[in-house]
Amino acid sequence: MEKIGRFGDFGGQYVPETVMNAVSELQEAYERYRNDPQFLAELRELYRNYAFRPSLMYYARKMTEDLGGAKIYIKREDMNHTGSHKINNALGQVLLAKYMGKKRIIAETGAGQHGVATATICAYFDMECEVYMGREDMERQALNVYRMELLGAKVTGVDSGTATLKDAINEAMRDWATNIETTFYCIGSVMGPHPYPTMVRDFQKIIGEEAKAQLMEKEGKLPDCVVACVGGGSNAMGIFYDFIPDKSVRLVGAEAAGRGIDTDQHAATISRGEKGIFHGMKSVFLQNEEGQIAPVFSISAGLDYPGIGPEHAYLHETGRADYVAITDEEAVQAFEYLSKTEGIIPAVESAHAVAAARKIAPTMRPDQILLINLSGRGDKDVQQIARYRGVNIDG
Ligand SMILES: *Cc1c(COP(=O)(O)O)cnc(C)c1O
Repeated sequence: MEKIGRFGDFGGQYVPETVMNAVSELQEAYERYRNDPQFLAELRELYRNYAFRPSLMYYARKMTEDLGGAKIYIKREDMNHTGSHKINNALGQVLLAKYMGKKRIIAETGAGQHGVATATICAYFDMECEVYMGREDMERQALNVYRMELLGAKVTGVDSGTATLKDAINEAMRDWATNIETTFYCIGSVMGPHPYPTMVRDFQKIIGEEAKAQLMEKEGKLPDCVVACVGGGSNAMGIFYDFIPDKSVRLVGAEAAGRGIDTDQHAATISRGEKGIFHGMKSVFLQNEEGQIAPVFSISAGLDYPGIGPEHAYLHETGRADYVAITDEEAVQAFEYLSKTEGIIPAVESAHAVAAARKIAPTMRPDQILLINLSGRGDKDVQQIARYRGVNIDG
């Protein structure tokens, strides 16, 4: 019998019995609606008129000329409403919650991006919204806390563990199990117990579907290489998915090497992680010698997760996708590079993909195409990059 929600050996549903009821209900609902014509029509209409899809396909002429290799295209997820790919998934899940008759949405957030996207859609749908956020992250991302409150959400601080993202996820799971009647848990990436990794990927795969059609129209062919940054892995799965059967397309994920993968301050899960079970899934995680989840570090709060979605673990194990590690310094240089060459300030997460592309493009031929997924815009990061560079912007 084929096991449910598996990518090879990865994925699955490793949750306590108390959470299993909620997971089973969600699984049933997703099976029921994932191919429902009315659900899909409503989602498409929200993509178009609320998120402003399709996102643009941009030819990066100056970058192409400067790097002197492949022709570079950029998929502009930074142009979506709320400024990143996160809205695609939040729209899908909150719409599903509505179909399930749920009145209350909970979410976890690290940097605040997924919390803001979820709070945005809850405002639009008149849903009650509570976002769990590590106390440490609340202090680092005070502006996003206020933004969520402005959108009508309640932000609840989490003090357990390291008071960061992984602890916020634990707290949201507990809430979900307790309030299953009323509550839908909107997870922010391709992680957690089945059906989340599949469902979140399905809500993000629009990125790759659009990109393929757009490149077909502009170039009449597939890209030779697709690059995306990887935290939990949702924007990368979103742009990769439609290209997986196209074996000529190389897929590259860029993970966060922080201060270097030979230090203990990084979030390079594929480079340095091991198989394990955490947050309801079997996947690859950064762990210490006792198998406990290790602390992570990256200049980019959105890539600061000690694991990776199970489908990425599978793509890596089977060799279908490659993963490279990009340091903070390389990401900051790419952040500055894209700003100066193309006049596009990328999210510092997305800058990891740009950094990987800067290394790969010159090794490719001019008749080849390299596609970068620009997962988000960088306004949120400008202050932090200035601080990193020692520029005083506080007046
Ligand atoms: C959250 C975020 C990411 C990382 O999440 P994934 O699930 O790996 O995509 C990347 N880029 C931006 C702009 C984000 O907000």
